[in-house]
Amino acid sequence: MNPFTRRRLLQQGAAAAAAALLASCKSDSATPATSPPTTTGSPSTSSTSSTASSTTSGLPTVPSSTTTSSVPSSTVAPPPASLVDTIPAGAIEDLRARLGGSVLTPEDAAYATSGLTANTRYSGIRPALIAQCRDESDVATCVRWAVENGVQPVGRGGGHSYAGLSTTTGLLIDITALNKVTLDRSSGQAVVGGSAFNSDVLTATINSPFLLPGGTCLSVGTGGLVLGGGIGYNARWAGLTCDHLTASRIVVASGDLLEIDDSKDRDLFWACRGGTGGTFGINTEFTFQLIEVPATVTYFRYDFEGADDAAAVLAEFNRVCATGNSGINPSYMAQATPIGSAGPRGAIACFARGQYVGPASELQDLLAPMLKAATPTKSAVEERPFWDVQANVWASENPTPHAFGDHSRYAKDPVPDDAVAKMIDILAECPQRDDDNNGSIWSLGWVGGDVMNKPGRADTAYVHRGMSTLLRPTPVWAADAAQSVGDELLAWTEQVISVIDAHTPRESYQNFPNRAIKDPQQEYFAENLDRLTEVKTRHDPTNLFRNAQSVAPR
Ligand SMILES: Cc1cc2nc3c(=O)[nH]c(=O)nc-3n(C[C@H](O)[C@H](O)[C@H](O)COP(=O)(O)OP(=O)(O)OC[C@H]3O[C@@H](n4cnc5c(N)ncnc54)[C@H](O)[C@@H]3O)c2cc1C
Repeated sequence: MNPFTRRRLLQQGAAAAAAALLASCKSDSATPATSPPTTTGSPSTSSTSSTASSTTSGLPTVPSSTTTSSVPSSTVAPPPASLVDTIPAGAIEDLRARLGGSVLTPEDAAYATSGLTANTRYSGIRPALIAQCRDESDVATCVRWAVENGVQPVGRGGGHSYAGLSTTTGLLIDITALNKVTLDRSSGQAVVGGSAFNSDVLTATINSPFLLPGGTCLSVGTGGLVLGGGIGYNARWAGLTCDHLTASRIVVASGDLLEIDDSKDRDLFWACRGGTGGTFGINTEFTFQLIEVPATVTYFRYDFEGADDAAAVLAEFNRVCATGNSGINPSYMAQATPIGSAGPRGAIACFARGQYVGPASELQDLLAPMLKAATPTKSAVEERPFWDVQANVWASENPTPHAFGDHSRYAKDPVPDDAVAKMIDILAECPQRDDDNNGSIWSLGWVGGDVMNKPGRADTAYVHRGMSTLLRPTPVWAADAAQSVGDELLAWTEQVISVIDAHTPRESYQNFPNRAIKDPQQEYFAENLDRLTEVKTRHDPTNLFRNAQSVAPR
């Protein structure tokens, strides 16, 4: 059994499972356990504890967590009876007979505990049926059954889609049992199940010479991650997750299982490196060539307070992202916190943090302009073993089933200082700023540098090469907050976007999807959209695999 949350998610009650889904990460996936500013709410019903133990080699192992929590029952409502009733009982029995795994209907006790989403905004969209696949032949059976019976199928991995894109009122194909990870420790090749979680990959690779660069949230599915790109604290020196994909197995709309790589079904393989999940089929397995890790990295974190310093630091931070070498992998966050005696501008907590593949002295030279712009209230710069930082800093854990509505925007060049100042002015006016409901502004410097930008924009379906950072207003609110709280925060989010709109190419990260984006496919795929449409038309002409933002066939 995996030491992390996976099995608990499958075994716990609905409320606890939903909580556990988020217990191993936050909506930003980028807040260390030691972070003072709270970017996600902590409902009073939640509690999490995590531990990190040491191996005999002295390196820490991956942290484990125990969590108890609850989610308001209103967010896990059953589907309207009429949806289930449209499927003949005989067809459901037929699927049960054909599947190695289980089929759940709302009448089954386990239904309420299954198929829950990370973003509680979408928890109310419930499937008529949940097929818990045991292996890839179950996945193919589900797809064939869905076509035969006219029921829309949607694949579900880690359930972390920001925009709830793995929800459906039809057949939810749950592939979380496809979680095996095998690593060849001499060649660095890893074979990863279609829905291994980040935690499974970390367990298989920790303390080895090899890394699959990816995100930090332990319960994100590797499938969703790689299919949309995959960014994180190693991306600038090691590339995207999808840059390391060498082959995949995918069940397409015909029900056939294809083995694809750069020579077999080349276009489909290309689409699987950035074209997002949920569109071309269900990938049951991924093969990756991992990258060798450095022995140590320099971890750093600087904290600042107040709107003026937050703006000064962000302006310099963005310049570091644009000009720094590929060794630096930084992120920045400023959050509106409860107003104290220093007023709303004083109540801005901010940090810049990351890791540097190189010595502390080089890092400090790189960050010198930022540290001249403002004086940190706290700082930490430590040369540490590589895996220690991955397992015990980036793979942090936090409770909180909550709602979120991030909107990301890539920047090629640093946005002008007056626009940065305006962003922070808007942050200081954030309508919500308590622990559970608040807004923050991120700059994720994980998306630039020479390594990331070596492939051309059309070389993979991930088009956003040549960028320097990913800017992102992040609103979070409690699952049971009044509608007005979420509405105010979403309006605030768009205010921030309107400030940077003129200074950024209109491109948004497809793995942070947002249903409010007016032309999502253009923002996610830009000039690659045409080729993605071709691939979709060839492999799924009837648009079997679809969601609110998927590419449609011609
Ligand atoms: C808390 C949090 C932290 C995050 N951190 C990061 C990060 O650090 N870096 C980063 O790049 N992204 C990050 N993300 C975004 C994440 O990569 C995407 O949301 C990803 O799509 C989630 O995959 P999933 O399998 O967990 O989600 P799901 O909701 O299960 O799936 C997402 C989409 O992919 C499809 N899909 C899933 N698996 C497969 C498969 N095997 N074959 C075909 N389609 C599939 C689904 O149908 C759906 O359309 C984070 C998201 C959250 C909520």
